[in-house]
Amino acid sequence: MNNENCSPSFLLKKYFGYDTFRPQQQEIIETALNKQDSLILMPTGGGKSLCYQIPALATKGTVVVISPLLALMKDQVDALRANGIPAASLTSMQSDAECEIIKNQCIYGKLKLLYISPERALNEIDYLLRRMDISLFAIDEAHCISQWGHDFRPNYTELSKLKQFFPEVPIMALTATADKITRADILSQLHLSAPKIFITSFDRPNLSLSVKKGLNKKQKLFSIVDFIEKHPRQSGIVYCLSRNNAEEMANELSQYGFSVGVYHAGLSLDEREKTQSDFLNDRIDIICATIAFGMGIDKSNVRWIIHSNMPKSLECYYQEIGRAGRDGLKGDTLLFYSLGDIVLLSKFAGESKQTSINIDKLSRMQNYAEASVCRRRILLSYFGETIEKDCGNCDVCKNPPSRFDGTLIAQKALSAIVRTDQSVGINLLIDILRGSKRIEITERGYDKIKTFGAGADVSHTLWNAYLLQMLQLGYFEMAYNHSNVLKVTSLGWKVLKGELRVDLCKVSEDDIKTYKKVANRRSHVQEISLLSDDENLFESLKALRLKIAVREDLPAYIVFTDKVLTELVEKKPVSISDFSRVSGVGEHKANKYGAEFVEHIKKELKIKRKKGDSILKTFDLWRTGMNVLQIAESLKIQTTTVYSHLAQLITENKINNYNTIIADYEIVSVKNAIAKLGGTELLKPIYDQLDGAIEYGKIRVAISILKKDGRI
Ligand code: ADP
Ligand code: ZN
Repeated sequence: MNNENCSPSFLLKKYFGYDTFRPQQQEIIETALNKQDSLILMPTGGGKSLCYQIPALATKGTVVVISPLLALMKDQVDALRANGIPAASLTSMQSDAECEIIKNQCIYGKLKLLYISPERALNEIDYLLRRMDISLFAIDEAHCISQWGHDFRPNYTELSKLKQFFPEVPIMALTATADKITRADILSQLHLSAPKIFITSFDRPNLSLSVKKGLNKKQKLFSIVDFIEKHPRQSGIVYCLSRNNAEEMANELSQYGFSVGVYHAGLSLDEREKTQSDFLNDRIDIICATIAFGMGIDKSNVRWIIHSNMPKSLECYYQEIGRAGRDGLKGDTLLFYSLGDIVLLSKFAGESKQTSINIDKLSRMQNYAEASVCRRRILLSYFGETIEKDCGNCDVCKNPPSRFDGTLIAQKALSAIVRTDQSVGINLLIDILRGSKRIEITERGYDKIKTFGAGADVSHTLWNAYLLQMLQLGYFEMAYNHSNVLKVTSLGWKVLKGELRVDLCKVSEDDIKTYKKVANRRSHVQEISLLSDDENLFESLKALRLKIAVREDLPAYIVFTDKVLTELVEKKPVSISDFSRVSGVGEHKANKYGAEFVEHIKKELKIKRKKGDSILKTFDLWRTGMNVLQIAESLKIQTTTVYSHLAQLITENKINNYNTIIADYEIVSVKNAIAKLGGTELLKPIYDQLDGAIEYGKIRVAISILKKDGRI
C-alpha cells in the first residue's frame, strides 16, 4: 500500500464508508500511529472503536483489544468481518481447536485485530502475545481497573504488567465513564508513559431527556404504554429495579400487544442469550431488564430508554440512556422517579462500602430528577462540561415549569408532620391530609388533629409531587434509617412560622389525562397503519436487511444501521456507485450487498409508479361523478383501495369537495375517537373505538381531511 492509501481518512471511507471523522478521532488515531500512550474518554456511541480499528488497518501487525464483555467482542468481530477486515476473538466460548487456529493466525500476522478478555490476555503473555507483532494494546472499559469506578474488576489491575512486558507497544485506554479519581487511577495503574488525554464532549444532543415524578404503579404503567405507543415498532429498553419488576413489567406490556422480552441475571445463560439475540435481530422490540442488560450491547438502533426506577448515580443513568441513538438518529429517554426509589436507594447506599460517596452520588442523581432548569446542563456539568445555551431537547426546556405560591400547601403538610409527632411516613401523611378514615389513622387518633382533612382538595398524586418538591427544597427530611418518618427541618419551621414563602412548581395534569386514556384502551393491535411511501420503503428495506442478516447469520444492524437505511430512503440510489456514496457503506459492503439493495429500490419505485397510475385512474372516474362502489367495480379493486386512493388525492389537494365520499358527522365521529384515544392515527383502535360503525376506508379518508384542515 502506498502512503496515501494508508491515510486514516482513506481507510475510514474504504472500510467504514464514512466521509469525515468525528471530533478528536483523527488526533487519537495519529497519537496511536506515533506510538504514544493515550487515555480516551468518550461517551457511549461516541465512536471509540474506530480509534483503534483505523490504526490497526494503517499499520503492520495486530491490535490487541482487551475487553471484559464477551457479547461486545463477538459483535465487534462480526462488524469488522462484515466490512472485510480480518479479526477474531479469543474467549472461553471457543473450543480448543478453534483457539489453536486463531492463535496461529495471530502468530502469522493474519489478523488486524484480536479481541481478548483480560484474564486470557494475562495467561497468554508468554505463549501468544510475545510471539505476535503487536501494534497497539487497546484497553476497553478501562474504568474497570479502578476501585472508584462503578464496575471494578480485580483482574483488570493485573493489566499493569503489560507495560512491563511490552514497553515498546503503545497503550490506548478507553472508557465512557470516568470521574477524576478513576481517570488518575487508570493512568497510574496502567503505567502509561506521558499519555495524551482526550476528553470528547459527553453531550448527546440527539437524546431527548425527560422525567416524570411521583406516579403510582398503575399510573407509571399507563404512562409507559402511552410512551411506547408513540414509538411504534421501535427498539427500546425498560430498565427495572429488580428481577421481579422486570418480569412483571414484561408481562403487563405484552398484554398491551407489544413484543417484549425479559433479561436479568436470574435467567439461564441460554435464555439470556436468546432474548439478547432476538432483540439484536429485531425479532422483539422491547426488553424489560435489570441493569445486567446492556453492558456490551452495541445495537445501534435502540430508539428509546425508559428507567422505570431511578438509577443510583448519574454515571449509571448516563451510560444506560447512552444505549439509545448510537447511530446518531433521534433517541427518546424517560426517567420515572418516586419517593419509594429514594428510600430504597438510600438504604442500599447506606449499606454499601463507600457510604459517603454513594450517598453523594445519589443526591446528585436526585437533584437532576428534581431539576427545574435545563437537564442537559446539569448532566453535562456533572461530567465537567458546560454548555452556553439551554438544550431545547429536554422536558424542562420544552415545558418550563411555572411556579405558584405554595406556602399554604407547605404549611398544611408541615403542620401535619409536627402534630403527628414527626412519626409518620409520606403515604400516611397524605392520607391524613386528605382525611382518610383508614384504621391506622383512627387508631392512632390522627383524625382528631387540626390538619386532618385540610388538604382534601388536592389529589393523592399531586400531594406526592408537592411533597417531593418540599423534600428537595429542604423543608423536611426523611429518616431513611428510621422507617422513613418525616422530620421538619429548621428551614421548615420558618415556613410554619410564616417567615418564609414557598414556591412550588405546577404539576402537569396532562399526565393524569394520559392514564385515563390508556386505561380506557381495549386493545393495542396495530395491524393497519397509515404509512407514507417513504415509510413503506424503509420498512421494506428493513425486511430485506433482515433477510440478508438471517442468511449471513449476523445481527441486522451489522449488515446496515438504521441510519444507512434512512439515507437510502432519502437518496433512493439506483446504481451501485450511488449506493456506495451513502454514508456507512464501505467498499466491502457495497460489493457484497449493493446489487441486491439497488434492485430492491428500483422495484419499489416501480410499484410506487404503478400505484400512482391506479390512483390517477380512480381520480379520472371520480371526476366523471362515479361513487366509491362504482369506481371499485369498474376498476375491479376493493372499496378500501378506492378510499385509500381518495384519501391520497385529498392529501394532495386534488379533491376538495368530499360530500359524496363521507358525511360531516362521520368526520366528526372520527375526530372525537382520535381525541379519546390520545391522538393515535392507527386505524384499528379508531375502528374499535367507534364500535365498527365506520368502515376502515372512510376512517382513512376522514384522517386525511382532518389533517389537511389542521383539525388533528
Ligand atoms: P462507542 O464504542 O464509543 O460506544 P462505537 O465505536 O460503537 O461507539 O460507535 C458508535 C456508532 O458511531 C457506530 O455505529 C459507528 O459506526 C459510528 N461512527 C463512529 N465514527 C463515525 C464517523 N466518523 N462517522 C460516522 N459514524 C461513525
Ligand atoms: Zn434542556
